[in-house]
Amino acid sequence: MEKVIDESQQGSTLSLEKNENNGRKLYIESYGCQMNFSDSEIVASILAKEGFNTTQNLNDADLVLVNTCSIREKAEQTVRKRLEKFNAVKRTKPNMKVGVLGCMAERLKSKFLEEEKIVDMVVGPDAYKDLPNLIQEIDEGRNAVNVILSKDETYGDVAPVRLNSNGVSAFVSITRGCDNMCTFCVVPFTRGRERSRDPQSILEEVNDLWERGFKEITLLGQNVDSYLWYGGGLKKNFDQASEMQKATSVNFAGLLELVAQAQPKMRIRFSTSNPQDMTLDVIEAMAKHRNICKYIHLPVQSGSNRILKAMNRLHTREEYFELIDDIRKIIPDCAISQDMITGFPTETEEDHQDTLSLMEYVKYDFGFMFAYSERPGTLAERKMEDDVPETTKKRRLQEIIEVQQKHSHYRTQQHLGKTEEVLIEGASKKSEAHWMGRNSQNTVVVFPKEHYNVGDFVNVKINECTSATLIGEAVGYSENN
Ligand code: SAM
Repeated sequence: MEKVIDESQQGSTLSLEKNENNGRKLYIESYGCQMNFSDSEIVASILAKEGFNTTQNLNDADLVLVNTCSIREKAEQTVRKRLEKFNAVKRTKPNMKVGVLGCMAERLKSKFLEEEKIVDMVVGPDAYKDLPNLIQEIDEGRNAVNVILSKDETYGDVAPVRLNSNGVSAFVSITRGCDNMCTFCVVPFTRGRERSRDPQSILEEVNDLWERGFKEITLLGQNVDSYLWYGGGLKKNFDQASEMQKATSVNFAGLLELVAQAQPKMRIRFSTSNPQDMTLDVIEAMAKHRNICKYIHLPVQSGSNRILKAMNRLHTREEYFELIDDIRKIIPDCAISQDMITGFPTETEEDHQDTLSLMEYVKYDFGFMFAYSERPGTLAERKMEDDVPETTKKRRLQEIIEVQQKHSHYRTQQHLGKTEEVLIEGASKKSEAHWMGRNSQNTVVVFPKEHYNVGDFVNVKINECTSATLIGEAVGYSENN
């Protein structure tokens, strides 16, 4: 029952348009968060220039790459099983090379090469530009590793290729790393310290996507509200910036304004927000621009003040409610979603009840819920005992999933009878005769195809709903077309 972000995409292979001049075959599989899928597009872009075409057939590959996730133990186990499979193929194809990318590469570093001897190459999330050199090393029969984390790498100068794209929506990475040090989370160790990307290069990428027919972008980062450009460098070094750099710095609200104005017909989404960094000016920018979607992913992790403190989340339950109230006041139709963890060390039934009551207050539109998984190297692992029994974690998880389903259904019902703008992404998974798209609130909407096409903005009258889907009929193009 555990929900995983973009579950349908986990382990998907990526395919690029074939370049006839390229002779080698790359098989690349991705796991984890949207950031990882976005990173795979950067990797494919770098390797396309090194003579690689993508293949979806593992047995055909000269180079197999797996972009990995360390967020929970289960994610790592999945990757290990895939590595066993790759090694089985390798035994019949000794020239095939296998590389591990991303968070597991960073966490385990050369352990993969030295102790387990199951891969040829290990590349951390800040070292993808070094791939051409690393591949040369493995071509010459040596193992290769680069897991150096960077102070300023944002890949702002690499134009990502759009892999498996619907041609309608694309990710645009705006920050890398994370400075939050939530005690449960491995991200600061695997992705390094937080740095922001030059707004100019973000705008160029967004403009280019619009020119190429894309209609929606998602600005991506571990903590987008913390975005701060002051000429380059780590966020934590901002106080050492010159007065001029400080005066001309751009924060997240400023970036949103720039992007919204640059492409007024392009839909803009962003993920992920951290409550401690989300400010009123961001909510006001959302209210001001119709092209900024009315949806905020606002992970809270727990409803208990005691657990929030132990997690090093830098806000209280009351401050979170204040933020929710501000959002509802400024953008009454804004959808809000959560990430929640059950069974963090020392969590009692009372803490769990606090989480349930917080959920009752907010009535989230969507949710991504997880049982706590102890991660090596995190503060929780070093200082706290993983003392909530697995059965209790799972039972609490089940309880919050049930409450979320009830609230999701309540929220979808609020759309009944309304006419809402939907951006068509593709055919419905269940019916070839229907389109699937999303409204501004990110809720999936399904409706008969008629004469409409992928990429159209269509006004859809909502007639029915389930807890996850709105069902309706088109009443015409929206003014955004
Ligand atoms: N910074 C991003 C965010 O806040 O969404 C990305 C973090 S992670 C990819 C997404 C979610 O995974 C977190 O919000 C948290 O709920 C969950 N998570 C992180 N570490 C976890 C752990 N040790 N055990 C269980 N869930 C975890």
